[in-house]
Amino acid sequence: MCGIVGYIGPKNSVDIIVSGLHRLEYRGYDSAGIALCQGRDEKLLVIKTPGKISDLETAIRAAFAGKEARNYTLGIGHTRWATHGAPTRENAHPHVSRNGQFAIVHNGIIENYAELKARLIKKGFVFASETDSEVIAHLIEECYVGDLRGAVAAAIEKLEGAYGIAVISSKHPDTLVAVRKGSPIVVGICDGETIVASDVSAIVNYTKRVIFLNDGDILTATADSVEIASIKNVPVTREMTHIDWDIRDIEKGGYAHFMLKEIHEQPATIANALRGRLIESEGTAKLSGMLMGPSDMARIDRVSIAACGTSYHAGMVGKYLFEDFASIPSEVQQAAEFRDRNPIIQRDTCLIAISQSGETADTLAAVREGHQKGAVVMGICNVVGSTIAREAGRGVYLHAGPEIGVASTKAFTSQVTVLTMMAIALARTRRLSVNAGREMIQQLAKLPGIAEQVIAQESVIIKIAEKYADMRDCFYIGRGYMYPAALEGALKLKEISYIHAEGYHASELKHGPIALLEKTVPVIALVPNVPGKIKTMGNMQECKARHSPVIAIATEGDRDIESLSEDIIRIPPCPEFLAPIPAVIAEQLLAYHIARLRGCSIDQPRNLAKSVTVE
Ligand code: GLU
Repeated sequence: MCGIVGYIGPKNSVDIIVSGLHRLEYRGYDSAGIALCQGRDEKLLVIKTPGKISDLETAIRAAFAGKEARNYTLGIGHTRWATHGAPTRENAHPHVSRNGQFAIVHNGIIENYAELKARLIKKGFVFASETDSEVIAHLIEECYVGDLRGAVAAAIEKLEGAYGIAVISSKHPDTLVAVRKGSPIVVGICDGETIVASDVSAIVNYTKRVIFLNDGDILTATADSVEIASIKNVPVTREMTHIDWDIRDIEKGGYAHFMLKEIHEQPATIANALRGRLIESEGTAKLSGMLMGPSDMARIDRVSIAACGTSYHAGMVGKYLFEDFASIPSEVQQAAEFRDRNPIIQRDTCLIAISQSGETADTLAAVREGHQKGAVVMGICNVVGSTIAREAGRGVYLHAGPEIGVASTKAFTSQVTVLTMMAIALARTRRLSVNAGREMIQQLAKLPGIAEQVIAQESVIIKIAEKYADMRDCFYIGRGYMYPAALEGALKLKEISYIHAEGYHASELKHGPIALLEKTVPVIALVPNVPGKIKTMGNMQECKARHSPVIAIATEGDRDIESLSEDIIRIPPCPEFLAPIPAVIAEQLLAYHIARLRGCSIDQPRNLAKSVTVE
């Protein structure tokens, strides 16, 4: 998920790798490191540090101080976004094998690392980190019989999960190996040198000619050759791509803003949240970070969710899920209210604190208050090792990768995905049958595809955005699972476009806001084909009668809403409990394009901070 750079050639790899890592900084990261080949069969030199690339540069200078300057012609570097283990020096990549002669950098998640690690420890391998990645280095050493490529192929055959990996070994000072499954690897073709990276922005300064690996490809490179073959060592040919982008475009992966990039990432980030956690045969989800067996789960008799902003809206969906499927009385509380109001926590109350950054001050205070009152405290965070993740002591990570746009997008859909898995796991200890659980798991597995189909509607959404970009006020309405989606849609729009937008339960319209409806005040109605649709259609009628243009977010092929809607954004059919995700993705795109057309500063909206660390 984060950054990889590797170099082999006549120049000093330290400079090329460090400048490549700088190019990848925009992706966000929490630690960095580099491994260099010091000579055949010697131990690899590893320098790594938590913090910024500038900290790594300081550590490199310190490591070389007083030593004779030399040319390291082979090396790999990494910027890490922690998924397994806090962002410490030990957990930073590269990781080396037992004999110090094999080093790897890894992006992604190794799902079966725990069992591989247990087996390797039994064989005498000693682990220096808590990461999932370190097993790769030891496996390569274990599989090595004179051929580096072969050892990498044999090692990855044992891995489950997603990875982009680059490998060096002092036994092969003239070879760099890289492999891809689910996490990108690209190789730059230069004269007499080769650069490998996870992202073209680390390469484009040196060459415009690159080859992207496909999943399953293993690259074996020297300074002047590049061979790509399958895991079974069958050579494959991959087309050369000529990069003609500007470096500034590349930094956002070709997108105009991080927010748009992050909206588009959602099929992948939702898949990452689900990865390795769905146990279809048992009709449940395995969330090991909850540190709970079925009997502990069966004991929970109340769920209290504390969160702020977008996370609060995800929490509202969570409340519905816990009540509908697990029949556990649940509440969502604005985190500041939770800590200020002296909440009632009973012995078997589970407090779930939701925060993308894991540093939200009010949510952290709620975690502390929850502990003080004896609740079972759980965190749902994106940033590994963040304060809330640590202090909660248990919970589930989103694995969504760094979210840079201030307005949260991919974190919301991952939070809801995680809450859905939690609800299924809890429900299976109660009245949810294995068959019903299995059906929910099958539906959940379709989410990445559903997200993709919504994103495919972007051109329709742009047309609608063009029509409404000048509006000054608008309302979002929905019922049931669409109610939190309405609140989130309004929040997204006001955050980035500065248009006054309010989200309401559709039935609330006539208790006040209807007084404001007129031609210039559009209403975004969330009416997919789920319970509540017919009633919300009644509200759309009321809007129409007051000349408010209605933009419907509705299910593909549903004709019922057509006569009531001025414009329609279609989302794929899906069960009620999943519908907030496609609906919110449609709202994110609408908000984004309206803000873009208004010329707003989308990634850094005025007055807003990415993580709210003050009360
Ligand atoms: N899962 C690995 C770790 O936590 C790699 C994370 C990344 O992609 O940066 O160390």
